[in-house]
Parts: sequence; C-alpha cells; structure tokens
Amino acid sequence: MLYHYPDNATVFELSNEDIIISLDQVPTWIKTSLTGKYLLQIMNTPRSLEELTESLSLHYDLPPEAVRPIIAKTVSRFVQEGIVQVEDGTPIIPRERQSIEDFHLQQVWFNITDACNLHCPHCFARQQKAQGFAPLHESLTFLKEAAQMEVDEIVFSGGEPTLHPQLMEILEGARGLRNWKVKLLTNGFMAGEEGGEARLMEICKLVDDVQVSIDGNNKSTHDLARGVVGSFERACKTVRIVASTGTQVGISFTPLPRNLKEIPKLYKLAIDLRANYIHLNRPKPPAAPNLFKETEQFTSEEFLGQVYSAYDELLIACHKSYEDMRGLPVKLPSVDSSFDPASELISPFKKLRCGAGILTMAVNYKGDAFPCAALTQERAYIGNVFSQGLPDISAKGRHMMLSLFSVDENEQCSKCSFRYYCGGGCRATAQDISACDCMCQIIQDRYIDFWEGLSLPIIRTGLGQESHGGKEVPQQRC
Ligand code: SF4
Ligand code: SF4
Repeated sequence: MLYHYPDNATVFELSNEDIIISLDQVPTWIKTSLTGKYLLQIMNTPRSLEELTESLSLHYDLPPEAVRPIIAKTVSRFVQEGIVQVEDGTPIIPRERQSIEDFHLQQVWFNITDACNLHCPHCFARQQKAQGFAPLHESLTFLKEAAQMEVDEIVFSGGEPTLHPQLMEILEGARGLRNWKVKLLTNGFMAGEEGGEARLMEICKLVDDVQVSIDGNNKSTHDLARGVVGSFERACKTVRIVASTGTQVGISFTPLPRNLKEIPKLYKLAIDLRANYIHLNRPKPPAAPNLFKETEQFTSEEFLGQVYSAYDELLIACHKSYEDMRGLPVKLPSVDSSFDPASELISPFKKLRCGAGILTMAVNYKGDAFPCAALTQERAYIGNVFSQGLPDISAKGRHMMLSLFSVDENEQCSKCSFRYYCGGGCRATAQDISACDCMCQIIQDRYIDFWEGLSLPIIRTGLGQESHGGKEVPQQRC
C-alpha cells in the first residue's frame, strides 16, 4: 500500500518548529513535529511504510525497528484525518463536518421589557425612554410556539426583566412547556428592594440559570459602569442568594476601557460569591458614545487585544486557584471559553457564518424579532412574532441570514484559511453587517497562540465526535 501527501493543505510553522497542517475545506487540523513534517515531504511521492521507515531511519540515523511503530501510528493518523491519501486502495475521505445550518433554532432570547432601574451608558436599553412590557397572553403563545419548535434554551432578558409585573406568570408558563433550559439575565438590583430576596428565591424555583451583570470587582468600578450607587452590593447579594438555592449562577462582565484591569481579579470575586461561572461579553460599541471619552477604543483591535490578554490572565488565575484549592471545600467557578475565538478550533462544526438567525434569535417586548440580541439594528429586523408567529419568523430570519453573509461569498473571508472556524466573525461588531468582521489579525493571532500552547503529541480536530441525530448540537457562543 502506498501513501501519498497531495500537498493540498495549509501549513502553519510555529515558533518551536512544530507545524500545523490545516485542511481548509473540511475543516480539520493536525499538529505535528519536524518528524511529521519530514514524513509528509517524502510522501509527496507515493511511498510504502517500508520505504518511509527506511528513509526516516537513515535521516535520523536510528535502527528501522525503532522508527517503524512511530511511522505506522503517525501515517495512520494522517490517513484518518484525510491529510494523506492511500494509493492502490480505497481512498479514505475525511468525514465532512456538519454546518450550523444543519440545525434548527436552538436558543431564543426574550427581552420582556425595555424598562431598567440602572443607567448603564454602554447599554442599548438606556437609550430607549419607553417603559414597555411584553403582554402576558402573547408572551405565552410565543413561548408555546418556541416549545413546539423544540427550542432548547429560552433566555429572559430586558431592560431589566425582574421589573416585569408578570414575570412570575411568564416564567411559570415557560417552565411548564418543555424540559428546556430557562435562563434569566439580571442586573441584580432587585435583591435590595423590599421583598426582593423572597421574590428572587421564588424565581430560582423556575429557572435553571441566573446570570448577573457585574462590571467591576469593587463597588466604585461597578457603580460607575452601571450608573447607580449601591448597585454592586445588590448584584453581589443576588449572586449569593441564587447560589444558596442551588440554582446555577454566573457573573456576566462587559469589558470597558475603565474596568479592563479588573478582569483577572474576577476569579476571586466569583469564589467569594460562590458563583458557578464567569462569562465575558465581547466588546461592542457603546449605545451612548458621547458618554465615553474612549469610544473608538471599543471597536479597535488594540482594545480587543487588551481584553484577550486580560482574559488570559484570568485563566491563569483560575488554574492557579485550582492548584491552590484542590481538595478544599471551595466552589471553584469555571470561565466560559466561548469568549475566545480559538475555542472554535475544537468545535466539531463547520462555520460558514455565526449562528445569528439560525441557531439563535432575539424577540423584544413588542414581539419584534432580530437575528440575535446584539443585532437589533433596523436592517436586521425580521418581523413580529406576536402577529406572524414564531415558525414563520424563524424561517424568514434564517433565510435572511443565509442570504446576508457567508465566508465562501465574502471576498476577504473566502481566501482566509481560518474561515470555517471563524465564520467571518460577529455580524453585530462588523462595520457593515454583511461584511467581514475586520478584527482578523487579532482573531488569527488567537488561533496561532492556541496552537503554540498545545504540547505534542496532539492531534485534535473535533472530527470523530457523534453529532447528527446524536448528542452534539452547536451552541451559540457569543
Ligand atoms: S473575518 Fe477575518 S479571520 Fe475571520 S474568516 Fe474573515 S478574513 Fe478570516
Ligand atoms: S457572533 Fe455576533 S452577530 Fe453572531 S450571534 Fe454572536 S453576537 Fe450575534
């Protein structure tokens, strides 16, 4: 049997001379050493295992029996991943990854009010003076449709959803419709109101996850970011109360130029509050740019780079805590890796675009639907679920996003070796929603850094995992 490397892969040379071989079309990648690189070079001409053994033995001046097992294992793995083809035999074609387009709507955000009790300059809700609340009957009908469409996760947000006078009825309705994940996003201010603690405990009986916005690890930073004195203490109290009920609770942090330095310290705060996880939101332009001296920074590669560095420091703090506190009765939080684009390298899915409008959708209190919670500009309006029904709106949103953008159709992305991992970035932060995200250099650097950090032997592609009809379903990771 002869093995042949047709040289149709992109090769990334890493700083320590290891290499990444990436098959763009599948997509899949493999990390290998100089030996692997040498093997591939000589397989430019079809070779048998014995010929490869002989060649490598001479190259490294080692006895053939010492290199034979390594060669057999490495070549077999190359074949399995489709990097090397078998001649005179049935060619093994790597299994195509599934695309997110193969899946139906997974997650619906329901922003049940635009009212809010805080004044965050970076938030879109603050810019809307109206105090609207989703009507109960229409809300329940819409939730029923989502359940019938087998949506897996429903996220209640706002504005501040705890201000909705019929929140409990809406949550009870959602809870009873389907065994799905019910999540509530809150600023945590309610915990300090009269009767707020008891109400929060009742909410916890109806939801699986409460995510509390905390934008600093002390009151001066958080209260400044949130515009109300005392909001930090209330948010922390909320996390503690939810944790005490056993319901999953997370800290959601929005990076701003003024709170950047506090990201690495979030781990300690999360431990103190007994939170389950920390989630960082990707920086987006502030809704009130005139209130920020540093507005341009929000959309700059430089700022995003600083945020990623701070995220890396947070991960280091997290790993150190795991070491220091191993065996102690301390609840250690996880850090949501979906913030890091490099996490896509180990996703088993091919990404022609992000999941906006396909895996996820956002509906406001009036029933107006958009492809995702961050993409609510006029151009992205899909229709109204209260009047048109979710099945029609979902089909329309899907079609709209499929027509809007694909890495294969975008001039810049179609030439990029990372396109099926990146999916062209975020539609909400792209300067034009139908264009490439433009943060390419920083995103590509994340991929290379991820590969650099892996030690050999590592052969990880995400393929070989069960997906369709099985357990693996793509999650929207923003
Ligand atoms: S947004 Fe940039 S990194 Fe992503 S696929 Fe397009 S060109 Fe590549
Ligand atoms: S990548 Fe951006 S546009 Fe796409 S779903 Fe996430 S936040 Fe929305």
